[in-house]
Amino acid sequence: RAKDEGGGEHFGYLPSLHADAEERRKLELSLRNAIGNRELELNFQPVVNANSEDVVSFEALLRWNSSEHGFVSPAKFIPLAEDTRLIVPIGEWVLHEACVEATRWPEHIRVAVNVSGEQLLEPGFSGKIVKALAMSGLPAHRLEVEVTESVFLRDGRTANQTLNEIMALGCSVALDDFGTGYSSLGYLRNLRFSTIKVDRSFVQGAAADNPESLAIIRAVVAMAQSLEMSTTAEGVEDAEQAKLIRDLGCTKIQGYYFGRPMAAKEARSLLARRVRAA
Ligand code: C2E
Ligand code: MG
Ligand code: MG
Ligand code: MG
Repeated sequence: RAKDEGGGEHFGYLPSLHADAEERRKLELSLRNAIGNRELELNFQPVVNANSEDVVSFEALLRWNSSEHGFVSPAKFIPLAEDTRLIVPIGEWVLHEACVEATRWPEHIRVAVNVSGEQLLEPGFSGKIVKALAMSGLPAHRLEVEVTESVFLRDGRTANQTLNEIMALGCSVALDDFGTGYSSLGYLRNLRFSTIKVDRSFVQGAAADNPESLAIIRAVVAMAQSLEMSTTAEGVEDAEQAKLIRDLGCTKIQGYYFGRPMAAKEARSLLARRVRAA
């Protein structure tokens, strides 16, 4: 059959597998040089208080505009950076840039930085936080570190220890994408997270009139309240979802409805407008 189809079809699925590996290799080579070539940039997405709608923080989100590949989605290059451990130097760059940028904001606005397991579990990671704070002059209480449940599955002991060190510095730690991992709730007993971020799949499920998603958000909010943690709903896209989330008692909201991830300059002018208006 393959013969009849002619052309590049002789090896069935093999050519595409090969092309994928080849494409990955090329991406990796480019990613290796992305910092040096100044192709990386941080965007900042506002997080608002669910009741007052005041901006309370921004999450730093990495963007890669490659000279060779154009704009590459984080869904593609972050896993690649993790697999190749390039996330270690890249993450250090992110931490530094995010802290520096936050020093230009009003003092009550925090910055949240995503930290991968590869970074967190690397010996001496809390020292990198100390360094980023010292070099930027950002007070520790203005930095929030976001981690996902997967890190506890990989090495719970080390994760606990490093996160405790980070909290002892005065930084806060948020549990990202809550509800999408596989882990037990045991780690909630050991660590004082400041915030649980409810994954956007639940938020968008609840809005689509899915009673299971609603029940899960309600349960997460109740659990967080009794553990004295706040909750952030991710992925709120319209007024209806914002109302739903507020009624469910989430503390904070993040999503396109209140602001997309934006360039540092735009985040600054948003803050200037908001503060002047207040
Ligand atoms: P995350 O930490 O859960 O970040 C939230 C993601 O949801 C962002 O995707 C954001 O753009 C998107 N988002 C926010 N509001 C909405 C909404 O209303 N609707 C929809 N559909 N999406 C919304 P993004 O920027 O593509 O980042 C994807 C993931 O990549 C992040 O998920 C995070 O896990 C990872 N990531 C991004 N930057 C970094 C970084 O600097 N370091 C590390 N280690 N990971 C990062
Ligand atoms: Mg995050
Ligand atoms: Mg998230
Ligand atoms: Mg997410």
